[in-house]
Amino acid sequence: MYAKAVAPSELRLGEIVRRFVEEDFTLVLEAFVESKSLGLCGKVDAVALTGSEAVPIEVKLETSPEKVKRFAIHHLVQVIAYAIAVEETFRKPVKRALIVSAEGGAAFEVRVGSALREHVYRLVRELWRVVEEERLPRPTTSTRKCSACFYRKFCSRL
Ligand code: SF4
Repeated sequence: MYAKAVAPSELRLGEIVRRFVEEDFTLVLEAFVESKSLGLCGKVDAVALTGSEAVPIEVKLETSPEKVKRFAIHHLVQVIAYAIAVEETFRKPVKRALIVSAEGGAAFEVRVGSALREHVYRLVRELWRVVEEERLPRPTTSTRKCSACFYRKFCSRL
């Protein structure tokens, strides 16, 4: 919630991106992106566009690769899905994405590799199956996740 309260424009993103991207770049803030291959659309906090690549940037509370991998794998999935959508929208290759802390100081790079892409395609196929067949998805195996879940008040599994 805090991350969403901070607009990307308030974060001097240009300076942060310059630490990772050597080429000249243009920043597009709150970029609308769409992926036909995933059937999803959304708004990325920012995209850095260079002559040879596009780099999606997401503002998050978790600011280290270890924390994201251990506690917030959904952030990683979201970033990779955005990366695919950025690639299709801006027609530029996406090899990496940046996760930037809401405070604006810390940032780290996520490699957008084939294993993570495949993982996202698998999840999205499952998501569309749930929608098309109108059946409940499997409940989470970790009830710790339920405390922060948006669907908590509607969920019949609790
Ligand atoms: S509240 Fe329901 S939908 Fe949300 S994580 Fe828990 S089981 Fe899943």
